[in-house]
Amino acid sequence: MPVYNPPLRDMQFVMHEVLNVTAEFQSMPQHAEVDVETINAVLEEAGKFASQVIFPLNISGDTEGCQLDRETHEVKTPTGFKEAYKTYVEGGWAALSCDPAYGGQGLPLVVNQCLYEMMNSANQAWTMYPGLTHGAYAALHTYGTDAQKDTYLPKMTSGEWTGTMCLTEPHCGTDLGLMRTKAEPLADGTYKITGNKIFISAGEHDMADNIIHLVLARLPDAPPGIKGVSLFIVPKFHVKADGSLGERNGIYCGGLEHKMGIHGNATAQIVIDGAIGTLVGQPNKGMQAMFVMMNAARLGVGNQSLGLTEVAYQNALAYAKDRIQMRSLTGPKAKDKPADPIIVHPDVRRMLLTAKAYAEGGRALAIYSSVLLEKAHNHPDEKVRKDSDEMLSLLTPITKAFLTDNGYNAATQCQQVFGGHGYIKEWGMEQFVRDARINMIYEGTNTIQSLDLLGRKVLGNNGATLKKFGKLVGALVMEEGVNEKMAEFINPLAVLGEQITKFTTEIGFKGLQNADEVGAAAVDYLRVAGHLVFGYFWARMAQVALREIAAGNTDPFYVAKLQTARFYFAKLFPETATLMRTARAGSKVLMDTDAALA
Ligand SMILES: Cc1cc2nc3c(=O)[nH]c(=O)nc-3n(C[C@H](O)[C@H](O)[C@H](O)COP(=O)(O)OP(=O)(O)OC[C@H]3O[C@@H](n4cnc5c(N)ncnc54)[C@H](O)[C@@H]3O)c2cc1C
Repeated sequence: MPVYNPPLRDMQFVMHEVLNVTAEFQSMPQHAEVDVETINAVLEEAGKFASQVIFPLNISGDTEGCQLDRETHEVKTPTGFKEAYKTYVEGGWAALSCDPAYGGQGLPLVVNQCLYEMMNSANQAWTMYPGLTHGAYAALHTYGTDAQKDTYLPKMTSGEWTGTMCLTEPHCGTDLGLMRTKAEPLADGTYKITGNKIFISAGEHDMADNIIHLVLARLPDAPPGIKGVSLFIVPKFHVKADGSLGERNGIYCGGLEHKMGIHGNATAQIVIDGAIGTLVGQPNKGMQAMFVMMNAARLGVGNQSLGLTEVAYQNALAYAKDRIQMRSLTGPKAKDKPADPIIVHPDVRRMLLTAKAYAEGGRALAIYSSVLLEKAHNHPDEKVRKDSDEMLSLLTPITKAFLTDNGYNAATQCQQVFGGHGYIKEWGMEQFVRDARINMIYEGTNTIQSLDLLGRKVLGNNGATLKKFGKLVGALVMEEGVNEKMAEFINPLAVLGEQITKFTTEIGFKGLQNADEVGAAAVDYLRVAGHLVFGYFWARMAQVALREIAAGNTDPFYVAKLQTARFYFAKLFPETATLMRTARAGSKVLMDTDAALA
């Protein structure tokens, strides 16, 4: 059976020693009083919820899956899911970082970020039920009318009602402009909505009293394409004026997808048959509001893979210390045993350290992003809000795609550590691999993330935001450039920081002549940018570790951090050279291939 220990020490390291989050909170009145002890105490309890309540349901939820009753259209989630959700709601976990105006506890988003990392490690399929609610909450909080907020946000904050995002239709996934679901205005100001959605996560279940679907649809006079899409709230049960539940709305589950992983999460085909909904935001501006949810979901999906990377690593590490096979190349290490534990073999260590470096680098990026999100919403200075929002917008596709590509890689490497036993169900490793695979696909495939990064976020503003990130790198290089002990981290980072400017200009220039050049380079480009970001955080983490060691701190945590940083810069970061080379191969080798692909 797999194990999971919440990585509280590493979270504390990133939050308090590297990013000093409570100092950031000082400038935000609503969080100025939040101290290190409070954050740590809440996360310790959060870790217990994740490891003791939902982790034990991970394998059973995967085996049992969800069942649809075709008569009632109700879905039964795996045994224990409903009870665990009740514990989650009663524990106040749903409300952790929500707005106190709607019953939330108002804690900084970083606390929720760490809670979700742990819940994703423990049980990704279960965590998607409350996870999607947070995105729907954010979209309504930003774009809902006061009446909509008063009706829906308190129950979504408490967790009594959950949320979904209903975008995808059978013929349209990436290209939402092809959407056909219709919304007809009614005399009372509501809308009658008709259409078919597919692949809707947590689209139907028995864990909450009501499900608040956020549905994209077209008004009768809508312009064609993505500019004619509007957003609607379509609750499973109508909500009466006094807040109690009314009749069933015309939105129901017509089928459940049979899929590779996340079996405990109901991926629903949703039939919308004259359901009544209300408009969110302006007509034909649905994508604007939905993007609040999509951006939250993109960070959330990166966080899913961060969680899986961590749990896969923990299990592979434990196995590698226990499993004995062959002798070390440099002579027996466990002389009292007939063979050495496999952790003595260099390549087993490479696999373990790959997962560890991806988990800890990903954690730093995810926590940093949650602080940016906090500042973008709550900082009193408008310029800080704007700058934070811009930086977060650059980092969002990187968080989504780099963390999920790394997460799948890490999960398979950790499975490989188990040899044949990794392929066998009882060890739980093959489930991590299956669960990790979807994260590269949904919420905009990783290809789409790379186009968003290179096309929109980098070339779209002439590299202005990337330059701002480059300034952070430059400042660290200036600060540590003469420190010999930091040279192994700072030198490669400084070189990549310089190379990426030229690399970006080159692709931008080629893209002006032929737009396929951008499409041909984008996936490689995102990984290069991902390493620039990871390299920056790994160098900062090494900097803190070196300082602690120099000050006489003997906690082995810092030695471990330095060793992992060394591994990262020596064995993972150098792939940037190959990636820049393959990106420079250009579009011709891809597009001039009609005979090859005939
Ligand atoms: C388990 C699961 C859960 C999901 N949950 C939800 C949910 O809750 N709500 C929801 O609305 N949707 C959900 N989805 C849908 C998901 O977001 C889509 O599957 C995804 O966005 C891709 O769309 P598609 O499947 O139609 O693929 P397509 O759009 O048909 O894409 C097929 C391939 O073409 C590539 N491609 C498309 N356009 C381009 C381009 N311009 N340049 C380069 N490559 C391109 C894609 O990257 C992909 O590799 C879920 C899907 C699954 C499988």
